[in-house]
Amino acid sequence: MNDHPDATDATDETYASSTHDVTAEAAAIRRFWGGLGLPGLIDVHTHFMPERVLRKVWAYFDAQGSLTGGTAWPITYRHQEEERRAVLELFGVRAFTAMLYPHKPGMACWLNGWAAEFAARTPGCLHTATLYPEPGVEEYVREAVEAGARVFKAHVQVGAYDPADELLRPAWGLLAEAGVPVVIHCGSGPAPGKHTGPDPIARVLARHPGLRLIVAHLGMPEYEEFLDLAERHPELRLDTTMAFTDFSEGFMPFPARALPRLAALGDRVLLGSDFPNIPYPYLHQLQALERLDLGADWLRAVCHDNAARLFGL
Ligand SMILES: [Zn+2]
Repeated sequence: MNDHPDATDATDETYASSTHDVTAEAAAIRRFWGGLGLPGLIDVHTHFMPERVLRKVWAYFDAQGSLTGGTAWPITYRHQEEERRAVLELFGVRAFTAMLYPHKPGMACWLNGWAAEFAARTPGCLHTATLYPEPGVEEYVREAVEAGARVFKAHVQVGAYDPADELLRPAWGLLAEAGVPVVIHCGSGPAPGKHTGPDPIARVLARHPGLRLIVAHLGMPEYEEFLDLAERHPELRLDTTMAFTDFSEGFMPFPARALPRLAALGDRVLLGSDFPNIPYPYLHQLQALERLDLGADWLRAVCHDNAARLFGL
């Protein structure tokens, strides 16, 4: 169900079904978390958004534009919304987000309305909201929190704004006080933006040390700079989205010397995947974590327990 008028004109081509066998993949994924003794996975970085917005995102990846660094990016789970949700259930992802984000003013409020409705009709979805530096942001962020938003998403590269923008200050303050985590794409991968990198985030955290930022993609490619920040700020967390995969290691490798620091921060690293917009099977993200060889305790914490604790699940 989708009540946005633009959502009805999707063509079959938009949802060109992949030949990828999700049933076989699901069995392997269930063996992965079952073998760790977990009740399932919690994924803090999955994308669900209004159909017309998602189709624009897919078109962007199809065009192999600057955001992808010109790299081919075939989307593995190019399905209708209901099917994408069912795939997560098949994989045993017991909680997930609906990451969505505006690229211009006047859009966040509409996205938040859609996301509230999506969360209400979608078991397992952590009610997600977003924000943008614009007049009124404090009000709609407050409304979203009061309506039950559990997590926010901010995209510094796509939004092309400074996260330390004065307009965002009251919103960050409100989210810090409410203890609501914010997944923030602020690293300069796969392509840098005017305000990406650790410095603007350091300025935000200097003002709001209690703000629960979750640095998406482990801060790729500024992995070590964001580890520095995490070591200084006990509420800063990192999500694994796309990190350590063959795809990312090919052009933004995680430095092996930083692995002990990643191990030490094991209680603040959270599984994220970027499902459905990934150019490889979901299972590969899990195998990429497993092959780091940081141990079963680290995997249990990252793939489930850290997020369960953060969101009270
Ligand atoms: Zn993402």
